[in-house]
Amino acid sequence: MSEQNDTIFGKIIRGEIPSEKVYEDDDVLAFKDVNPAAPVHILVIPKKHIVNAFDAGEEDAQLLGKLMLTAAQVAREQGLEDDGFRLVVNNGAAVGQSVFHLHVHVLGGRAFAWPPG
Ligand code: 5GP
Repeated sequence: MSEQNDTIFGKIIRGEIPSEKVYEDDDVLAFKDVNPAAPVHILVIPKKHIVNAFDAGEEDAQLLGKLMLTAAQVAREQGLEDDGFRLVVNNGAAVGQSVFHLHVHVLGGRAFAWPPG
């Protein structure tokens, strides 16, 4: 990552602001959302600064797959295997993206409506 990642998640990755981490390796980080929308609300992010899905390229295919696998592992560890969980990725301010570093919301522990609001 050559550019400076000035988003709040860049600061979390660099340890400049604290977070409640549930998983970390060289490629990805998972931590609790500070303002949870469900009993389980974890964010899974790549350490590489990708703005959102529009910003990802072929070279990111493996990393994007790892986000999904990590999300499932986190959900399992949070006890959601029986009841299931929802993954949400907001891509663009118009649909609710507020932090411009790609993140997968892992949500569970309550019922969810469909279609989402
Ligand atoms: P978005 O709206 O971009 O899809 O989701 C951003 C999420 O990041 C929100 O659910 C918000 O609560 C969470 N968030 C924003 N700032 C922080 C922070 O400093 N720490 C943590 N853990 N979560 C944050």
